[in-house]
Amino acid sequence: MSRYEEFYRQSVDAPEAFWAEQAKLIDWQTPAEQILDASQPPFARWFVGGTTNLCHNAVDRHLAARGDQPALIFVSTETGAEKIYSFKELHAEVQRTAASLMELGVGKGDRVLIYMPMIPEAAFAMLACARIGAIHCVVFGGFASGSLATRIEDAEPKVVVSADAGSRGGKVIAYKPLLDEAIRLSKYKPAAVLLTDRGLAPMDLTAGRDHVASELRRKHLDAEVPCAWLASTDISYTIYTSGTTGKPKGVQRDVGGYAVALAASMKHIFDGRPGETYFSTSDIGWVVGHSYIVYGPLIAGMATIMYEGLPTQGIDRQPDGGIWWRLVEKYKVTVMFSAPTAVRVLKKQDPALLKKYDLSSLRALFLAGEPLDEPTARWISEGLGVPIIDNYWQTESGWPMITIANGVEAKPSKFGSPGVPMYGYRIKILHESTGEELTAPNEKGVVVVEGPTPPGFMQTVWKDDARFVNTYWKSVPGKMVYSTFDWGIRDEDGYFYILGRTDDVINVAGHRLGTREIEESISGHANVAEVAVVGVADALKGQVAMAFVVPKDGIAVTDADAALKLEGEIMKVVADQLGALARPARVRFVSGLPKTRSGKLLRRAIQAVCEQRDPGDLTTIDDPATLQQIRQLVSSA
Ligand code: ATP
Ligand code: MG
Repeated sequence: MSRYEEFYRQSVDAPEAFWAEQAKLIDWQTPAEQILDASQPPFARWFVGGTTNLCHNAVDRHLAARGDQPALIFVSTETGAEKIYSFKELHAEVQRTAASLMELGVGKGDRVLIYMPMIPEAAFAMLACARIGAIHCVVFGGFASGSLATRIEDAEPKVVVSADAGSRGGKVIAYKPLLDEAIRLSKYKPAAVLLTDRGLAPMDLTAGRDHVASELRRKHLDAEVPCAWLASTDISYTIYTSGTTGKPKGVQRDVGGYAVALAASMKHIFDGRPGETYFSTSDIGWVVGHSYIVYGPLIAGMATIMYEGLPTQGIDRQPDGGIWWRLVEKYKVTVMFSAPTAVRVLKKQDPALLKKYDLSSLRALFLAGEPLDEPTARWISEGLGVPIIDNYWQTESGWPMITIANGVEAKPSKFGSPGVPMYGYRIKILHESTGEELTAPNEKGVVVVEGPTPPGFMQTVWKDDARFVNTYWKSVPGKMVYSTFDWGIRDEDGYFYILGRTDDVINVAGHRLGTREIEESISGHANVAEVAVVGVADALKGQVAMAFVVPKDGIAVTDADAALKLEGEIMKVVADQLGALARPARVRFVSGLPKTRSGKLLRRAIQAVCEQRDPGDLTTIDDPATLQQIRQLVSSA
């Protein structure tokens, strides 16, 4: 048995002993009486009887050994700001924010909704909530009023923390009017709003409700707010899933289990060490931002980079496709975390930018959120010269479910596979309709997790235990298992391959094809930057595959002859690799694909447009013009 296999075995054979050991990675005020209470499946309660605090573990416990070391490194290529907060400074700022929130009436168990751009005040607010036991609900700062309003109604926050504005690609986006409109739309009204004024956009203040953060901060400069010792099973926060497959679900997480899970993942998966720098390019509005911008790195005693801006913009606000690598060099980043979608953006830049900076500090680049196609993985891996580690997980899990545990054993990775199940996760592949376990290599089924789920995993759906049980645990017939709603296979070496979502399958003349397999094949063509494949209803064949491609050189988008030629080439690639059956009925060329604000392809929306149906919940779409372009192409066909 390899070192990792042994480690994994211990975690699933004796989970309580295993996690009791991991629990030593964090500070407890009172140790747990019971490691796991799984008496009411599918609910798993970790470290019952224990008390601790996320903010204490992220900030206070590092003050003695590394108080003057960097904790939060803020870089904005939108405003040109660059500022380093030491653990001591972070400690002071978090207490000032905590005191401000308390002045506005926030106490333990109250919700605080955070609608913020990527600025330090957002992290201060999250940590301040954790410190006093308030439940934070971070809503991605790019959302419009409608999406924000439904989240305000669901979370019922006592206070909303926001700012005058965010900025994207140099364009100021005023948040305050969006927030005002959202509060107007919401049946529930927050008692107070705490606003950071960045001086980017004017703010109209509503008297009695709106407060300027700097004014409250000034009153609490010397605030000393002790950490509230919370039950391990208390609620730390709620966060909504990305909404790729429909209405977002409010994922609720605990305190102690989450802290332990993050501390363990920093050690065993990311191999991040105290005093080093971690750089995640995500946003605090997503689970990656919670786990690996704010809490994980800080719990591990690392400095974390908080980056506001595009991957292609310099600190002088001029175009710079090398900005991330410049930051890796400057801050000696050892562990980096990004998404395939961001790498595909960089792929359109000059590859020499990857070689321009000294990246010798970097040990690995982790990528998550979407399938990592082989050409993209190879491109970035060869360009950077560091291992690229694919990472499969979900908002629901809070930390990676399938990847390579670099800190335990640097197992080789395989292109196209995120790796093997992480310790604590009993991951199985089940037949979708019979529920039977598929154990032979390369048999395709639904990826599920057998309970009890490990620490850090969602506790339930916020305010809705029934939805948690019915949505996630009752989808496979005859078995109470957690469904990921993703297809997968396991090869003879135990490596998993994720083949797309269970609702992304097309049926061509009785043959079931994964859209992801066709996309993978198409992305092998040298002129393909991005691709989405969807199944479209067809009177003759049941369904046919339609491909939408962003060509690297852009020519086929506007030039009909070039489009015809490229379409033929792409059809041939697919027919040669997967057979004629998988060949798309049409390949259309577009300048961009519809995605969620977290960078996930909205295949269901493309499919609906192709079938002239209502695309449904589009509240999380990034650029509606991309869908409009597809609508025009389809209707002019
Ligand atoms: P919703 O659940 O609201 O439809 P979502 O599933 O996109 O939205 P997230 O929790 O952000 O919300 O995304 C998790 C999903 O992203 C996974 O279930 C999987 O489909 C996909 N995913 C994440 N990482 C990977 C990866 N490394 N490889 C393949 N797919 C991935
Ligand atoms: Mg999901």
